Amino acid sequence: MVGLTYDDVLLLPQATNVIPSEVDTSSRLTRKISLRTPLISAAMDTVTESRMAIAMARQGGIGIIHRNLSPEDQAQQVRQVKRSESGMVQDPVTVGPEATISQLDELCGKYRVSGLPVVEDGKLLGIITNRDLRFIPEEEFPTKTVRETMTPMPLVTAPANVSKPEAARLLAKHKIEKLPLIDDDGRLSGLITVKDFVKTQQYPNASKDAHGRLLVGAGVGYLSESWDRALLLADAGVDVLVVDSANGEAKLALDMIRRMRGDSAFDDVQIIGGNVATQSGAQALIDAGADAVKVGVGPGSICTTRVVAGVGVPQITAIYEASKACGPAGVPLIADGGLQYSGDIGKALVAGADTVMLGSLLAGCDETPGDLVFVNGKQYKHYRGMGSLGAMSSRGKRSYSKDRYFQSDVTSDDKIIPEGIEGQVPFCGVLGSVLYELVGGLHQTMFYSGATTIPELKERGRFVRMTSAGLRESHPHDVQMTVEAPNYGGRA
Ligand code: 5GP
Repeated sequence: MVGLTYDDVLLLPQATNVIPSEVDTSSRLTRKISLRTPLISAAMDTVTESRMAIAMARQGGIGIIHRNLSPEDQAQQVRQVKRSESGMVQDPVTVGPEATISQLDELCGKYRVSGLPVVEDGKLLGIITNRDLRFIPEEEFPTKTVRETMTPMPLVTAPANVSKPEAARLLAKHKIEKLPLIDDDGRLSGLITVKDFVKTQQYPNASKDAHGRLLVGAGVGYLSESWDRALLLADAGVDVLVVDSANGEAKLALDMIRRMRGDSAFDDVQIIGGNVATQSGAQALIDAGADAVKVGVGPGSICTTRVVAGVGVPQITAIYEASKACGPAGVPLIADGGLQYSGDIGKALVAGADTVMLGSLLAGCDETPGDLVFVNGKQYKHYRGMGSLGAMSSRGKRSYSKDRYFQSDVTSDDKIIPEGIEGQVPFCGVLGSVLYELVGGLHQTMFYSGATTIPELKERGRFVRMTSAGLRESHPHDVQMTVEAPNYGGRA
């Protein structure tokens, strides 16, 4: 078998009357979830925490919160995404009347919310927002109570089944930012905020659940502690769990998927299995009950599996082979790792993927965890493999990513066999502008291929294999680049 990857192939130009800006990039993430933008941010500790996941979902993709966190911290990150924006917050964070302003402050910080309904025994007593706090001196925070400070009932409220237009009308009419929803007995049953209306207009493609909350995923392992982690995440409202392993065909990983699929706690959670790189690997995940199959053994920019273990399949071939199992089963395929340019997205889709997972292409965004690093006056962000020494040892902190590489029994850092490296990528600004370039590239792919939808692109796309001379010709050549394009050069 010959193994080909992104740089070995190009898509043939075809007759077209497609206008790039008019194409539909919706595609299936899992059996039950579709995304308007077929992009996923990787479950890596230098790529996806709640800020990135929120930004990804707003743009129509999804973020997978990494698992190099304690289960509680990871569940908290999921909650932050689920609460960040919604048609209606069904289970709003509330505060009791006897709490101090300091305690209130802490609560708002923890859940990243401003303004809380004040509730006692389920009944709405009032609301406390920045407006109420504006003139309270900070030294009084530890002693002043919420009861003394809040705006008490009667407030403008609405019944739980209020329509969106009616809620918007009430917010506008009374010039308020929060509309508590109450039942006939005055018990709080939800909250609508003006921010959610603004966000809905600002991000029309956002990926949302049936309650209007942003979609989010999270990575889990397969060892016994992973079960409790998975339950905590499901309880926090996670939409997708990725059973994340460097070899998705490992018995323990398949057992975890089977066990989750058989437990009603995960009825509302879609399960992604991975990673595999062959038809039989994909089939094993499908047979175990996975709702999507993630493909990629060793293509990642920070990955050394192929040289450390000598194992892997070049990514275009891996996608194609796995799609022979996924296609007939109707199970979506995620191409994970190895994408360097926007053009690689279309190549992955034509090879058989439905969505792609990105690490290095997003690691330089403002929304990723970690600070900017300055090197010779240029700005960078740290990016490391989850199998790197840094991620697996976590430099003193407990690492949860070792089991991805089946090394959780290794207790000493100098006995770890790393399968990834640590590095940095150029800072590339906010995710919105990076995705604009990536999705714009996909629009162009669809134009050249004469496809208005992703299923059409998958159907029509045809590859030509190129030589190393062809690859050289494909990149700018024989000139000295003086100006980098926003989608080329900065990371080349
Ligand atoms: P990238 O988009 O940077 O090329 O690849 C990101 C993908 O690489 C991740 O989604 C994950 O599947 C994979 N990955 C992350 N860290 C490591 C690592 O340390 N070793 C290996 N083998 N793969 C990794």
